[in-house]
Amino acid sequence: MRGKSGWILQRMLLAASLAAAVACNRGKEGVQAQSPAAGPVAESQGLTVTYPLDSGPTPSINADRAFQYVKEVVKFGERPIGSANHKKLENYILEHLKGDQVENDTFTAETVAGKFPVHNIIAKYAGTKDGIIVIAGHYDTNLPLLGTGYVGANDGGSTTAILLEFANQLRGKKLDGYSVWLLWTDAEEAVRTWSDTDSLYGTKHLAARWQQDGTAKKIKAFLLTDMIGDVDLDVDRDANSTKWLENVVYEAASRLGYQSHFFARENAIEDDHLPFMKIGVPCADIIDIDYGYNGVYHHTPQDTIDKLSPKSLQIVGSVVLETIRILDKMEPLPPK
Ligand SMILES: [Zn+2]
Repeated sequence: MRGKSGWILQRMLLAASLAAAVACNRGKEGVQAQSPAAGPVAESQGLTVTYPLDSGPTPSINADRAFQYVKEVVKFGERPIGSANHKKLENYILEHLKGDQVENDTFTAETVAGKFPVHNIIAKYAGTKDGIIVIAGHYDTNLPLLGTGYVGANDGGSTTAILLEFANQLRGKKLDGYSVWLLWTDAEEAVRTWSDTDSLYGTKHLAARWQQDGTAKKIKAFLLTDMIGDVDLDVDRDANSTKWLENVVYEAASRLGYQSHFFARENAIEDDHLPFMKIGVPCADIIDIDYGYNGVYHHTPQDTIDKLSPKSLQIVGSVVLETIRILDKMEPLPPK
């Protein structure tokens, strides 16, 4: 992933302006009215959106188990595409999905550094409603950092783990909403230097496939997670995501009392959601790009487990599940 070029400076400038902007706009973007019959109403992309009433127990994940998964994933060491450790991690993920409906999207990517095997993993949990919600995150680690001791605890590790924990939450349950597909994306990272052509190999391939076979039309929402384990959790609002869907994420966070961890900053993030945005799938990138002061831990050997917290996994896990619960009951969903 990367933010808009020069994102650190941009972020510092934006921090000041957005703090003011968000404060002024909160009334407009957030909940406007409470109606016992229809639930909260909000404004999104010029449309009036009605959120379903807040009801039922608060969704949650087993954050300690998710954190244990991060530790196990990190123990494999560097896991870039084409490496033996990557293969071990593929097997580890598949081992945890035994008995689930799993689809493998494998192909050979032609990259600026040669050919690499790429393997997206999709686990599918059937719902009763027509349509699919995808929760995604990448599991590869950065190839150019190979040999530096880089283990990507947050960048790659946290998302691999939280998706495994989502699988535990979804498995064996009768989902009364949309089907949920968990997607471990591969080859998100650049093989040399991030650019439009050197990045997102796995999702570019899968988006093209899903557009061709008609799957893309059935996807109601694509929720991407990235770098969500940071002990200092501050998720960015992403200007490259679908605004109404980002608003649902914020509504979910607010309902759970976690809004202080969300959207104090806005950024324009290049990440695995872009290939799906391009084909008309509503996407929200749930990413905390500010990892360490001025992002100093990002893509460095300092991206280690001690910078992460089970609490952050729990917050993001709950917010993602609450987002799904809201989407399941939103009728109709805003147009794409
Ligand atoms: Zn990365």
